Amino acid sequence: MDAAVATPAPSNPPLVLGFAAMAIRKIATIGHPILRETTRKLTKEELSSPELQAFIDDLIETMHDANGAGLAANQVYEPVRICAIEIKNNPRYPYKPNYPLTVLVNPEVTPTTEETFLNFEGCLSVPNLRGEVYRFTGVRVRAWDRHGNDLDFEVKGLTAGTFQHECDHLDGKVFLDRVHDTRSLTTWADFERFHQAKFVERAKALVAKYGS
Ligand SMILES: [Zn+2]
Repeated sequence: MDAAVATPAPSNPPLVLGFAAMAIRKIATIGHPILRETTRKLTKEELSSPELQAFIDDLIETMHDANGAGLAANQVYEPVRICAIEIKNNPRYPYKPNYPLTVLVNPEVTPTTEETFLNFEGCLSVPNLRGEVYRFTGVRVRAWDRHGNDLDFEVKGLTAGTFQHECDHLDGKVFLDRVHDTRSLTTWADFERFHQAKFVERAKALVAKYGS
């Protein structure tokens, strides 16, 4: 018998859903109830599962694909207390200083100061709208990393604003809830046209003061 016929073709390995490859997830937009849910804390056992590690990969890939500075799990329809933050020459926020990829599991942020600044925020879940929000200029962040190791650090300036924005998501809040004056709301095009130059001056002063 011909050897080529006798040897069966190797079959593809079975696909394990959510584990085989990273995937870009759909992002929930304002009005979807999942954005208003308080997310559930995870145990270390859950965190170590391949499914959850694959989910974290998806969260990061989705954030990169959408040019987000951060992304919370409930923004991609998983109501668990995880978010990712990374700022790398971000085209949506060109004035934001770079910040390395950071995954926070069960994060808690607490202000380290009473001082606030007026941030001009946008959100992947709130398409084409930006508005001014007061944020603390410094917060202490306590969380686990994606492997369950303890994290405890402080962030300042504009970066502190990003951490507060992402942790708000995990508590079911969006930046619109904190817009102090709805007259600051603007489309992205009109932000660039009418507000960006002034805000970038404020942002630069903040970065000069806090280094971030
Ligand atoms: Zn957001």
